[in-house]
Order: sequence, then C-alpha cells, then structure tokens
Amino acid sequence: MVRENLIAVEEKIREACARAGRNREDVTLICVTKTKPVEMLEEAYAAGQRNFGENKVQEICLKAPQLPEDIRWHMIGHLQRNKVKQVMDKAVMIHSVDNLRLAETISREAVKRNMVMPILIEVNAAGEESKFGIALEETEQLVRQAAALPGLQIAGLMTIAPYTEDPESNRLYFRQLRELSVDIKSKCIDNVTMDHLSMGMTGDYQVAIEEGATLIRVGTGIFGERNYV
Ligand SMILES: *Cc1c(COP(=O)(O)O)cnc(C)c1O
Repeated sequence: MVRENLIAVEEKIREACARAGRNREDVTLICVTKTKPVEMLEEAYAAGQRNFGENKVQEICLKAPQLPEDIRWHMIGHLQRNKVKQVMDKAVMIHSVDNLRLAETISREAVKRNMVMPILIEVNAAGEESKFGIALEETEQLVRQAAALPGLQIAGLMTIAPYTEDPESNRLYFRQLRELSVDIKSKCIDNVTMDHLSMGMTGDYQVAIEEGATLIRVGTGIFGERNYV
C-alpha cells in the first residue's frame, strides 16, 4: 500500500510542478511517519524515500537506530527546549522554531558540537489560536535575532495551514509565507538563506507546491490514517 500511495503522491507532485512551471527536483517530499511502525518506514525506504519527518523527539530516537543511516530525519513538531540535546545529532533540519529561547538552546547545543543546524522559523500564517508559530508580522524580527546566534543557519520558513476540506482556501496563507520569505531574503541578512518553504500536507500539498513550497510534509496520503491511542 505504501508503495502505491507513493506513486500516486509522486504523480500529483509532478502535476503541480508542471502547472507552476517548476522543476520536480526543487520540491522535496518528506514522508511524515509519526505513529507509524518501522515496517512501514522500511517500505517507504525500499521505494526510494530518504526524507522522513517526525513530530516527537522520542519517536525519532526510537526509530532512527532501527533504520538505515542515510535517512534524513526532519524534526517537524513542537520542540521543547529540554529535548533539543537529543535531536541534535539525529535531525538534518528543525522546522519548528517559533521563539528566541528555543533558537538560543539549539544554538548552544550546536556550538558544543561544533556544528551548524539548519532551522526554519514556524509561522502561524492563519493566526489560529490553537497553533504554534510566530505571527507573520513578528517573523522578520525573530529571523534577525536567530541569525545573530552562532551554530544556526536560518534556512527558511515553515507553516501548518488550517485543516480544511478545500485546499484552495489555504492558497492565501502559502502565498503570504512565500512573499514574506522573498521579502526577508531581499534584506541579505548574514546566516539567512531563505532557500526553503516547508508547507503543504496531505490535504493541500499541490496548492502549496503551486505557491512555492520546497519541502512538503505528507503523512496520511502515504501511510494512511493515524490511530492515536
Ligand atoms: C502530522 C503532520 C504532517 C502530516 O500531516 P498529513 O495530513 O497526515 O499529511 C505535516 N506536518 C506536521 C507538522 C505534522 O505534524
């Protein structure tokens, strides 16, 4: 099932790229594997997938040792400062930085390890009460503050759009995120590349690609519904 789903998702990615006049290589599919057993991740791996996303540090730490080392783990969920240590040598990117104290903790741990951690600033583009993420208007300030810290590279922005049956209703938020990213990039801040826009999930990744997503995070569309216990 995973293999078939991946073929279908790939087809949709290609369609969206074609519509937007973008190259397929400019969009990376992150397979969101939270709650799913290692066997399903192995299926995705066998089908050629190398980018996996988890929203809990604990789950990355549990799964990573059981799977091939060339998997690129993305930390996409809310991150507590006391968990940062554990994720530093496992994640290739942290998508969910939405406050300065968290950025400072990641910076400190990166310096200790003599490494640079690419991070994305999570933006609450729709201003939903229930969501993490910084407000659009405050994003540039946080980018500037984080960029001044050692051991961090500000690689771009991330957003979790509202859950909706109609993906078109999220187009505006994706567009706003891209415009903000272009705006910040134009300011040529040291340590800020703004090469990435992490946006689009199962319900809306085609629209996100049309609006410039470089990293899409797809779970249900590949692995099926999640059963939370
Ligand atoms: C779970 C999750 C996803 C994937 O959601 P689906 O709708 O299952 O594709 C994407 N991003 C984040 C941050 C998530 O927590």
